Amino acid sequence: MGVGPAGVPLRAHHLLCLTGFRGLGYSEAFRVAVADLVRDLHRHPLRLSDSADAACRSCPRLTGSGCENEPVVREMDGWVLRLLRRAPGDGDFAGVLYAELGRALAEPERKRLCRNCPWEVFGFCREGLARLRAGQGPPAAELRLGQKDPAVL
Ligand code: SF4
Repeated sequence: MGVGPAGVPLRAHHLLCLTGFRGLGYSEAFRVAVADLVRDLHRHPLRLSDSADAACRSCPRLTGSGCENEPVVREMDGWVLRLLRRAPGDGDFAGVLYAELGRALAEPERKRLCRNCPWEVFGFCREGLARLRAGQGPPAAELRLGQKDPAVL
């Protein structure tokens, strides 16, 4: 299984984040970058990584040495990679990866995986995982970019 060397680089834990994306984000540039990634899910294979991707490069939380929460997000990347039995640099199609993630990740473990994420309280990823576990596949490309960011972020 897998694809050739091409593919859209994606931090492994962002696979899960993208299932919960509602058009909200840390900044306008970040929201647009994540919306582009969601659209790319349907057009190109992905290449999993455990370092900054296009979303990070548009994120105000990216510093010169990586994410300001690099140890936390790196642990989440490794967690998702282990669930998928993949390594950084491995590529595949979103539909394949999401089917595997839906089989491998149950809600109690997702809650532990996401315990340090500021978005966890909104329940978007809980709903995203439920869709995956129901076999509903990658998130839709149509996004609501007009929503207001939650004040907590
Ligand atoms: S919070 Fe960190 S891991 Fe998440 S998009 Fe921003 S820089 Fe990347």
